[in-house]
Amino acid sequence: MPADFRRDIPRTDAVMADPALADALARFDRRVVKRAVEQAQALARDGAIAPAAVAARAAAALPRAPTSLRRVLNATGIVVHTNLGRAPLSAGARAALQTAAGYTDVEFDLATGRRGPRGAALRAALRAAVPAASDAHVVTNGAAALLLCVTALAAGREVIVSRGELVEIGDGFRLPDLLVTTGARLVEVGTTNRTSVGDYAAAVGPLTGAVLKVHPSNFRIQGFTAAAGVAQLAGLGPPVVVDIGSGLLRADPGLPDEPDAQRTLAAGAAVVTASADKLFGGPQAGFILGQTSCVEQARRHPLARALRVDKLTLAALEATLLDPEPPVARALHASAESLAARADDLVRQLVTAGVPAEPVATTGFVGGGGAAGVQLPGGGVAVDAALAPVLRVQDPAVIGRVTADRLVLDLRAVAPEDDAVLAAALQAASVPADRG
Ligand SMILES: *Cc1c(COP(=O)(O)O)cnc(C)c1O
Repeated sequence: MPADFRRDIPRTDAVMADPALADALARFDRRVVKRAVEQAQALARDGAIAPAAVAARAAAALPRAPTSLRRVLNATGIVVHTNLGRAPLSAGARAALQTAAGYTDVEFDLATGRRGPRGAALRAALRAAVPAASDAHVVTNGAAALLLCVTALAAGREVIVSRGELVEIGDGFRLPDLLVTTGARLVEVGTTNRTSVGDYAAAVGPLTGAVLKVHPSNFRIQGFTAAAGVAQLAGLGPPVVVDIGSGLLRADPGLPDEPDAQRTLAAGAAVVTASADKLFGGPQAGFILGQTSCVEQARRHPLARALRVDKLTLAALEATLLDPEPPVARALHASAESLAARADDLVRQLVTAGVPAEPVATTGFVGGGGAAGVQLPGGGVAVDAALAPVLRVQDPAVIGRVTADRLVLDLRAVAPEDDAVLAAALQAASVPADRG
């Protein structure tokens, strides 16, 4: 009889007082717990669970952790993986986040007891890291850096850009769409494959606010191509803004074709814009580096307030600058031999534990839409592809690459200190469900 059955369903206040929910009430907002209780009562009303199980069901439905974000071991071989949160932070940056999490002197001068300039230490550290930049400003991401620069320098005027550089960065984000929102008129020059300095020169006029160069980081055109260099463009007169994208502050010998802020500014760019969570290896942010006059215009623009970074970002960026080799750089520079040696160790451990595995040579990528075409030969472990879905839902989750019937776990973007965590995850995933 459904009516009798319903009478057995415990009232909300009774369930809330159940010892099974005491721990939940200490950890979560009362309304969150109440919603879980109401959902469990609804299940009991539908006969899906027993009335006596309402409290336990509500407790089980509440979150296990304060964030639904799950830790992931990135065994894809793609170092800067946008779907996996781009750059993993260094130990120093993680510690800095802890310090900045509470009250902090982000805009307060402790020596004088007066208001202090926000982000001054980071600004100085960026200038020291990039001597060719006389000033620096930080915003929420790379797109915001470009948006702010073009708005400050060219709103109501013209911005000249090559047709070969009007790219889609990813996830439907198209550069021309962003540029149009700045209020600058886009003047396209050249063709998809070839643009000369003469094309730009012919377009420069009294209305030119800036010449924009964008590093087409996620694709390469080969064959009959030509592009004007920054030095040539700098001679034209208007400020040259260069979106270098991936955020290398200094040249990296391992990525000879990747533009860096120091060389681009030294070549004559007025400002460079870049992401902080790609090759720089920091938290999500955007850099604006260059001549004081241009950076100052960006900083003073009203839009700058809307694109301001928080104390956590400031803290993590400063720490990343201090780190001798943040995790992204360490992953990029890991030699194929060192990765193969780690793979051999891992395979030995796994086989001893009864998990079939073998070492394999791998090909990794920089990722994050950067260094298209650069391959990173490395090493990893191949296991049964049937483990892939199991590893994905474990904590930490493990993401690899499935090829044919094998799951390949590339060690390039796995921190060496996480090899043991990876081994444990593989052993846990290999235990058949009926035995585990
Ligand atoms: C990644 C990238 C951007 C966007 O940077 P976000 O930090 O993702 O906003 C812009 N331009 C280029 C060339 C990029 O590579």
